[in-house]
Amino acid sequence: MDPASVPPAPAPDSPLVAPPRDDAFTLYDLRVEVVATDRPMVCNHRAGLWFTLSGENLAFPPGETFPLYPLAALLPLLPAKQRPTHPHDWMTTDAEIACPDPYCGGRFRITRTGTTTFRHGEVTRVPLPGADGDAPGGTP
Ligand SMILES: [Zn+2]
Repeated sequence: MDPASVPPAPAPDSPLVAPPRDDAFTLYDLRVEVVATDRPMVCNHRAGLWFTLSGENLAFPPGETFPLYPLAALLPLLPAKQRPTHPHDWMTTDAEIACPDPYCGGRFRITRTGTTTFRHGEVTRVPLPGADGDAPGGTP
């Protein structure tokens, strides 16, 4: 590998890469916004419509709806976008997703808007490796 192509090392104090001092971990908060193209939209989404994701929680503006099929297409990508990714990974660079309806010109732009820190013990009952004296990967 060309040394010039190696991405710079992340800042050691970044909450996304710093070794955890406790059971805390950090995820990106996301905003997904409908973007128009030169093709008309078919589905019930309009340019500018948006929703957010923080942790496991989707939030929509009051009174707004979002069509099921585009949401179903977006859902598998969102957890990956919440997590730190390599600078060369397409998951890092690609932010616009096409609507799954082949006749619809809608696109959905995923933006990392900030971070939220969570605690492992508050989001799962699975213990951290070694937390209870078990070998890593042991059963609870
Ligand atoms: Zn659509």
